[in-house]
Amino acid sequence: MYGPARLAISSGCGYYGTMMKITYEKIPNPKELEKEISNFLSKKFGNNIKIVSPEILPQETILDSPAGKEKKKTKLIFDLKPEDLIAHLDQYIIKQDSAKAVLSTKICTHFNRITQSQSDKGSFDDIVGGIKNNVLMIGPTGVGKTYMIKIIAKKIGVPFVKGDATKFSETGYVGGDVEDLVRDLVREAEDDIELAECGIIYIDEIDKIASSHHLMGADVSRTGVQRALLKPLEETEVDLKVPHDPISMIQEVERFRKSGKRDKRVVNTKNILFIMSGAFADLAPIVKKRTSDQGIGFGAKLSNPDDQTDLLKYATADDLAQFGFESEFVGRLPVKAYFERLTEDDLFDILNNPNNPVILSKKLDFAAYGIDVKFEDQALRLLARDAFSENTGARGLVSAIERALLLFERRLPSTTIKTFPVTTHVIETPEAALSAMMASADAGKDNEDFQRLARQEQATIRAYLESNKVSLSRKFGITFRPTRIDLIAEYYSQHITDVGTAINRIKLFYGEIKKVELSFFEHHDINIVLQEDAADYLVRKLALASVDYDAFYSTFSTKFGPGLKLVRDKIGTHRFLITQEALVDPEAFISDLLKDQFSEPATTTQKDSPT
Ligand code: ADP
Repeated sequence: MYGPARLAISSGCGYYGTMMKITYEKIPNPKELEKEISNFLSKKFGNNIKIVSPEILPQETILDSPAGKEKKKTKLIFDLKPEDLIAHLDQYIIKQDSAKAVLSTKICTHFNRITQSQSDKGSFDDIVGGIKNNVLMIGPTGVGKTYMIKIIAKKIGVPFVKGDATKFSETGYVGGDVEDLVRDLVREAEDDIELAECGIIYIDEIDKIASSHHLMGADVSRTGVQRALLKPLEETEVDLKVPHDPISMIQEVERFRKSGKRDKRVVNTKNILFIMSGAFADLAPIVKKRTSDQGIGFGAKLSNPDDQTDLLKYATADDLAQFGFESEFVGRLPVKAYFERLTEDDLFDILNNPNNPVILSKKLDFAAYGIDVKFEDQALRLLARDAFSENTGARGLVSAIERALLLFERRLPSTTIKTFPVTTHVIETPEAALSAMMASADAGKDNEDFQRLARQEQATIRAYLESNKVSLSRKFGITFRPTRIDLIAEYYSQHITDVGTAINRIKLFYGEIKKVELSFFEHHDINIVLQEDAADYLVRKLALASVDYDAFYSTFSTKFGPGLKLVRDKIGTHRFLITQEALVDPEAFISDLLKDQFSEPATTTQKDSPT
C-alpha cells in the first residue's frame, strides 16, 4: 500500500515570495490506482465486483526529445538602441547615469544578439563557451535597482521575475529555487516557453550568499548556492514539471488529457538574462584596504575616500573573491553596474518627476473618493527631507507621504471638499491646515491654493516637455508645437497619468479627428482639410472638454454639409480648408466663401495655409 500521502507545506506570501510547495511521498498513476482499488474491493466483496474505468485519458505518446517541446512560436523582435533605452530610463529614473549607460548598452546588446541569432542570418551566437551578459548590480537599498530593471523589461516586452537569494538555502536543497524562478518566468510569459527563454531573472540580496558572511546558514551551503547558480547562469535545461509538486502534476495530466501527448517541457536558460543585485556594504572595507595598499589603478582618484558607494565602483574580481564569491560565480557576471546613494535633493527630484509612481499612486488614493490632489514644490521638499532621514533611499518616500497625509485621507472623504492642495502648511501643521480647509469650504470659498498649484503643475509639465522635446518627439512620433505642449500639460493636470500616457492620449485624439475629413468626404463627396489651428481646437474640445466625437461630427456635418455643397455647386470649388475660425462660426465662413468667389475670378480650390 502507499503510505498516507505525506504533505510538507512551506508557504510564503507575495507573488515573488517563496512558492507554496507540497511534496507527496509517492503519487500512484491511474493504472496503479485502479489496481489498488480493485484489490481492495475484491478483498472486501470477493470477485463479484469489478472496476470498469472509462478510458478518459488518450493514449500516451511520449515526446521526450527537445524537438517534442510544445512551443508557441514567439520570435523576439528587438531593435532598440542603447541611447534610446537610456532616453526612456531618463524619463523615470533620477540620477544613476553610469548604471543607466551600462545596463542599457549591455541589455540592448544581449537582446539584439538574440534577435540576430533567431533571424535567418545564421546562428553566429553558437560560439562554444560564449559568455552571456549577466549583470551584477551593486548599490544601497532604495536607489532604483529593481525599478530600473522592471522599466527595462516592460519596455522590451520580455517576462521578468524577481527572487531573493536569502531564500535559496531555505529549501534544504540547493538549486531548487532558481529553477522555480525559471518556471515562474514561463508563467509570466503565459506559458509561452520561447518568450520565457528570453526573459529576465532578477535575484536580489546576492551579497548574502557570499561565503565570508555569517548572515545565514553554513558557509558550505552559501558556496553550494553559488555553485548551483553556475549552470543556469550559463546554460541548462529546466524541466517545467516539478516531480514533488502535485499542482504541476495535475496540470501535466490535464495537458495530457487535452493533447494526448506526454511531452517533456523544458526551458533552456541560454538566453535568459540573469541580473544579481545587492548592497555589498562589507565589500567597501575590502576595496578600501586594497586601494590604500595599491591605489585604485588607471590613475583614478577617489572623490571621497570615505564614501562607501564611491569605493564600491572600484571593486575588482579579486575583491569580490575576497568578499566570499567563488571565482567561477564572479566570472559568470561579467557586467557590473554601480548605483549611487541618493541625496535629499535627488529624493525631491524623484517626487517632482511627473512620472513618479509614488505621487501618482497617492493621487489615485484620493481620487478613489473623488478628491483631486496637487502638491506644492516646497511641500515635496519637506517630504524628501523626512524620507532622507530614514536612510532607505527612495523607499522612505512612500512612508513619508503616508505619515504626512493619513489624517487627510481619513477625514476629507467625509467632507464636501473635492480639491486638496498639499502645501507646507499641510505637512507642518496638519490639524490646523485641515481645520482651515474645512472652514473655508463651509464658507463656500474657492480653494485658491489648489488653483495656484494646478497652474504650477501645468507650468512644470510644459517645462518638462519643452526640455525633453527632442527625445520625446523621437519616441512618440509627434512634433511638440506650443499648442500641443499646452494640451498635453492640461490633459496631465486633469487626469491621473504619467506624461507618456498623456502624450499618447493626445496623439490618439489627433488621429481621431482625421476621421472627420474621411467621414465628411463619404457623406458629402466634398474634400475638407482641417488646418492645424482647427485640429488643435478640436482636440481641446474632445480631450479636455469631454465633447463626444459622434455628437460633434453630426453637428459639424449639418452645419458644413449643405453650405459647402452650395459653394461647390455654384462655384466649382471642390476642396475646402477648415480653420479654427470656420469651426467657431460656420455660417460666416460659408458666406465669406461665397462673397469671395463672386468678387474674384473662380478658382477650383482654396490655398493651403502654411504649416
Ligand atoms: P532597490 O535599489 O532597493 O532595488 P527600488 O528600485 O525597489 O530599490 O526602489 C524603490 C522605489 O523607489 C521605486 O519603485 C521607485 O518608485 C523609487 N526609486 C528608487 N530609486 C529611484 C530613482 N533613482 N529614480 C526614481 N525613482 C526611484
